[in-house]
Amino acid sequence: MIVEGRPHRRPRRGALVMHHTRLSLLLAALAAPAVADEPPDLETIARDTVRDLADGRYDAAFQRFDSRMRAAVPLAAVAAVMDPVRKERAPARSVIVRLRHDNAEGTVAFTVKCNWQRGAVSNAVVTLLPDGRIAGLAITDEQAPPPALDRFDHYQPKAKLRPPFRGTWTAVNAERSPKNPHFSSPNQRFAVDWLIRGADGRSFRTDGRTNADYLAYGEEALAPAAGTVALVIDGVPENTPGQRDPYYAPGNSVSIDLGGGEFALLAHLQPGSIRVKTGRRVAAGDVIGLVGNSGNSSEPHLHFQLSDHARLVEAAALPCTFVGALLDGRKVDRATPVEGSRMTAAAPK
Ligand SMILES: [Zn+2]
Repeated sequence: MIVEGRPHRRPRRGALVMHHTRLSLLLAALAAPAVADEPPDLETIARDTVRDLADGRYDAAFQRFDSRMRAAVPLAAVAAVMDPVRKERAPARSVIVRLRHDNAEGTVAFTVKCNWQRGAVSNAVVTLLPDGRIAGLAITDEQAPPPALDRFDHYQPKAKLRPPFRGTWTAVNAERSPKNPHFSSPNQRFAVDWLIRGADGRSFRTDGRTNADYLAYGEEALAPAAGTVALVIDGVPENTPGQRDPYYAPGNSVSIDLGGGEFALLAHLQPGSIRVKTGRRVAAGDVIGLVGNSGNSSEPHLHFQLSDHARLVEAAALPCTFVGALLDGRKVDRATPVEGSRMTAAAPK
């Protein structure tokens, strides 16, 4: 289901004439928009617009439309699209801005996700002019139910995975519960964030204010198995510890096709540190890049996961177990890390 007004297509002659007459009537009925001294907070406008649509306040959303949008998508058309969706699914449980895209011509498009109380999800792309007026709106209603989260809970990986690092690292955000931020997203459900803890249990040496203070920072991230490099992202600047970059969530990252429909993702690497190129064969233990703090990461660590696709957007995460590893100091045939597990890579091959 799509409501769409595309501002950059040349309007048809007839539509333009109509838009002038209608517009004057509409504007007469509307309060003049407040002129703010500061530039408007576009992200808030995008979110509020989707919230208004989800709650049935179509007029509040419509008042933010620019003149072309008003001509292209009259208020009645908004209601005609939204009413049946709301009847089936409302209220909205959450309305979250997921993505900001700055277009070359100066407009800004926000992807806003609306999670309905009953089942499905709607994705809205709200395109805003710099003054906060809405120049485009597309609402895609996800008809298909979300994939069952637990469909891979008992998956056994085919690849023999070795730890993607040397030495002893600690698994965090590995718990199979909603407390784990990975766990509720199908595409990260079984990911593990690996970091190094010192004898005092801390992951940094002094005050943790710089990336270089972290024990994991600059360690070599290794290919867990032989494969072909399927995707490389580089050039994402690093975060200051405590801050995150959710827009480029994996940061500098490499996905390796291990065959058999399995891909290993190593994420949050240092920019410029990646040693491999797309299409290159790698062997288990090859250095892929250096552990860093890029993307949706608040401190240097290695996000590692097995997936069924190279790109996170279409991937489901798969559980992973490791061979050639000690788990909490004990030799095991297959190491399945849980929250707080200490995994040691066995001596290099
Ligand atoms: Zn992670």
